[in-house]
Amino acid sequence: MSKLREISQLGNPVLRQTAQPIEDISHPDIQKLIDDLLTTVIAANGVGIAAPQVAASYRLLVVASRPNPRYPHAPLMTPTAMLNPQIIAHSTQVVKDWEGCLSVPGIRGLVPRYQTIAVEYTDREGNWHRQELTDFVARIFQHEYDHLEGMVFLDRVESQEELITEEEYQRLLVAK
Ligand code: ZN
Repeated sequence: MSKLREISQLGNPVLRQTAQPIEDISHPDIQKLIDDLLTTVIAANGVGIAAPQVAASYRLLVVASRPNPRYPHAPLMTPTAMLNPQIIAHSTQVVKDWEGCLSVPGIRGLVPRYQTIAVEYTDREGNWHRQELTDFVARIFQHEYDHLEGMVFLDRVESQEELITEEEYQRLLVAK
């Protein structure tokens, strides 16, 4: 049975650590962690989550784009757990868009990200993948990958004026 895990909030040192590689993907604790991350991200209306966000400092992230109240325009995809992920190439083109984070509640910021990235990862069955990701899904990956490096989106916001509250963000969405 999967269970909801508590989400680490900004200020918790686990969010500032470099996460460690996963050596034994089939280990029951790792498989349980994946199940719990999938359950937790959906329950929290997230579109992605990284293991350090539930205080597990491992190189594991979930990309789970789908339309929800926090991101009404997100594309729908099957939630995917990516273990030991890497960014192996990226476009020169960078796009800025609003991001939020389950570990930084109530705040949105304009974050520059590569529009397209090539990534490699191992799935939960141990199969190796190389994939190209673009736009919103590429943004999610880069956001979650930062968590594995001890970074949060606030670190990439270029101006304090590009930080807004969740309430103002919702107002912008309605105005669109
Ligand atoms: Zn985050």
